[in-house]
Amino acid sequence: MEIKLEDLKVLYSEEQLNTRIKEIAQELDNFYKGEEVTAICVLKGAVMFATELVKDLNMPVKMEFIRLSSYGSGTSTSGKVNAVDIKLPDLNGKNVLIIEDIVDTGLTAKFLTDFIHMNFNVKSFKFCSLLDKKITRKVDIEPDYYGFEVDNRFVVGFGLDYDGYYRNLRYIGYKS
Ligand code: 5GP
Repeated sequence: MEIKLEDLKVLYSEEQLNTRIKEIAQELDNFYKGEEVTAICVLKGAVMFATELVKDLNMPVKMEFIRLSSYGSGTSTSGKVNAVDIKLPDLNGKNVLIIEDIVDTGLTAKFLTDFIHMNFNVKSFKFCSLLDKKITRKVDIEPDYYGFEVDNRFVVGFGLDYDGYYRNLRYIGYKS
């Protein structure tokens, strides 16, 4: 399936994304109450969301970046999570916030949740995703915070790609 720019319809506009991201930041501010947070951005998809979200946080924030992949070049998950690059500092005793683009089957979220808990004794662990595709979930896991729910369609933009393209769009779109 090829996705052309002219075929894309806006699902969530730049304005809707900005408004919702500010709301999530407020929810996070309320939870952390000024305590330091280590925000872990899951590359590459979460890069736009993470960089916007952290700008609106009012506590001390350290940013870390890890790289995982489960999609190949197509539009459906491979069902296997590849840890392409996970190098993290000592997170014992830290407030850890994972920032993800979308939870689909939930395999990535489960992998990361288990990975952090197996390797560190964290103070708190929260999982925040811009999008939540609840309908395609294969494992029992829910993000603690999410921006918007999406139904079973392949979305691109604002960090999410199709074959490496469209991450740079200001909106979340889908093929009409
Ligand atoms: P999961 O492990 O939950 O099945 O999938 C998580 C990853 O699959 C996401 O981080 C994202 O990279 C990719 N993914 C899932 N659904 C979509 C989608 O609709 N569009 C794009 N571009 N990527 C998706």
